[in-house]
Amino acid sequence: MQFYYLIYNYPFQQPLITHHGIWKNREGIIISLIDSEGRIGKGEIAPLPWFGSETLEEAIYFCQELKGKITEEDIALIPDSLPCSQFALESALFHLSQPLIDEKQLNFKYSCLLKAGEEAIKQLQSQSTLTTFKWKIGVYSAGYEQEIFLRLIDSLPVGSRLRLDANGGLNLQEAQKWLFLTDNYQNIVEYLEQPLSPENLDLMLLLNQDYLTPIALDESVVGFRQIENCYQHGWHGIYVIKAALAGSIVKLRQVTLNYSLDTVFSSVFETPIGRSMSLYLAQELANPERALGYSKI
Ligand code: MG
Repeated sequence: MQFYYLIYNYPFQQPLITHHGIWKNREGIIISLIDSEGRIGKGEIAPLPWFGSETLEEAIYFCQELKGKITEEDIALIPDSLPCSQFALESALFHLSQPLIDEKQLNFKYSCLLKAGEEAIKQLQSQSTLTTFKWKIGVYSAGYEQEIFLRLIDSLPVGSRLRLDANGGLNLQEAQKWLFLTDNYQNIVEYLEQPLSPENLDLMLLLNQDYLTPIALDESVVGFRQIENCYQHGWHGIYVIKAALAGSIVKLRQVTLNYSLDTVFSSVFETPIGRSMSLYLAQELANPERALGYSKI
């Protein structure tokens, strides 16, 4: 098959502020395959190196080295150290025969990402529809964020659900304080996402037992191998899956189905090309009771 690639870089309308810092531009690579019948399949390499994926530079080098040609066998042999490239090439193979997903024809439940800190409350004032919201915490001090949390709860449209995402930025005491608080709002708080950094899996297993608020893992379960390791280590809670970072689609599907995982498929702010593959997978593998970690477009 012929192989082409195009590097992109676009600024977000609003920079994204998380515990990992401020993120202003989405950079990635759109790749295309053309097979012997002239069919075209596209895929997207959307790296997030601070989540453990390859860097954009490593992905560009990988694309250059292909010298415009690749076979299905080569795709199966892409190393696990290039998870976004694995995802993109397998996506392009899939899209040789499948069009991009038509979201309007499907009944996805979406979520709405709120800005960190007090900005979230202002943002809610323009929202009146019942939905699932996600709010980043671990950006400012826990005491300040908890005070905003209580105001946020009052501002949510009745019947909404709220996900709190700490991006691994809390210490144990802060996580306990948050869970002590959110346990009073079980009908509103759907889960606390990645309270501690990935090396603290044992502590997160304990927190998941000790409090009523469920915990979801995200940074701990980026690749299909980490998903498998966490499951083997006893994590039977919620898995946030960023398909664009998870590596081989074939292996992600295997691990998710083998263990009947409770999953939320989530965005890495990819373009419609990466989003299409992720949503095809979400349709098949995500828990339909939970909203996607994607906003409606
Ligand atoms: Mg997260």
